[in-house]
Amino acid sequence: MLNKKSVDDINVKGKRVLCRCDFNVPLKEGKITDENRLVAALPTIKKLVADGGRVILCSHLGKPKGEPKPELSLAPVAVRLSQLLGQEVKFAADPEVVGANAKAAVEAMKDGEVILLENTRYRAEETKNGEAFSKELASLCDVFVNDAFGTAHRAHCSNVGVAQLAETAAVGYLMQKEIDFLGNAVNNPERPFVAILGGAKVADKLNVISNLLEKCDTLIIGGGMAYTFLKAKGYEVGTSLVDDEKIGYCKEMMEKAEKLGKQLLLPVDTTIAAAFPSPIDAEIEVQVVPSNQIPADKMGLDIGTKTAELYANAVKSAKTVVWNGPMGVFENPILAKGTIAVAKSLAETDATTIIGGGDSAAAVNQLGFGDKMTHISTGGGASLEFLEGKDLPGVVAANDK
Ligand code: ATP
Repeated sequence: MLNKKSVDDINVKGKRVLCRCDFNVPLKEGKITDENRLVAALPTIKKLVADGGRVILCSHLGKPKGEPKPELSLAPVAVRLSQLLGQEVKFAADPEVVGANAKAAVEAMKDGEVILLENTRYRAEETKNGEAFSKELASLCDVFVNDAFGTAHRAHCSNVGVAQLAETAAVGYLMQKEIDFLGNAVNNPERPFVAILGGAKVADKLNVISNLLEKCDTLIIGGGMAYTFLKAKGYEVGTSLVDDEKIGYCKEMMEKAEKLGKQLLLPVDTTIAAAFPSPIDAEIEVQVVPSNQIPADKMGLDIGTKTAELYANAVKSAKTVVWNGPMGVFENPILAKGTIAVAKSLAETDATTIIGGGDSAAAVNQLGFGDKMTHISTGGGASLEFLEGKDLPGVVAANDK
């Protein structure tokens, strides 16, 4: 369990509370296309409002790279958040984030009111954890609350710098929930514990593979990263995605699994095509072949039917499942079958199922299985670093209980 001060442990009545949220939502022509992150932030905001805090929200949005970019303004978030919250969320539209508008708005706040600052990444210092911007943010508040799990693996002004300067720094409900779910799953799982890793490259998930192998009973590998493992087994993998520099590492992981008595499942068959689909959703001709019979001129783009069954069965016998990364090029319906089969097996089990954010969360939601999962993390990168066994700076910076 997380031993950090939470919003239940602090008194915010009449105080200025700066709450770092993760409002990094996808936008299309100024419209929010997925508001999961806004909804996920509501419990903490409501609690701070109910307790009589003067709630100043802040977040980043996209990558404006240290300068104001109107298309990455948080203005649309303030509008939608007002509706979701059922009360006005006043937007302080300062290009420098903490400017005349923000200061005046904070000055005029009454207990229980809410304002939202402009995109923190309009400031170049934000991602460098620069002192000046951290001090400006800290000057706006008496209490700091970090509820942005999605950026917890980064040390920025708005989550770490300001936390170190504020008199009180606590974590919000979402942060607590994320850490509790992921922490329990990894460190105290009900067994059998099955971890499923997919996605593009082995290199992105080296430490996750190694750490999860120690914690889980069965590690399942799919997606592009599987082919480096298959090549390490001596198979021909054709033109599939392979990281030749990591073949030695894959061999080491297979040995590690054997030594620890853990099951490491690799695709027994694979869906191949002549080339990567272009455009990505192009109608392509595919074929399923055993994993050791991939022709030299073909590319593996999804797990095969037998593998999908094998993985689904492994999920069936599990009591805890953690999943990160798709099983194939799921953006193409013809190559989404493996990812769908795995998502379905998670949706149907009574086991605790945790989705580690990013593409796998998008895939699960897109397929309509979202509400069947025990927990879908709001942070891809942060949940991966957590699964690697790393401390998250955004969490470390909060006060201990
Ligand atoms: P995040 O880090 O956001 O959580 P992720 O871990 O879910 O992402 P990535 O490592 O970014 O996943 O990889 C996802 C991408 O991998 C998808 O775009 C998918 O098309 C691609 N992919 C999956 N299988 C293959 C394959 N066999 N060949 C090439 N690309 C693949």
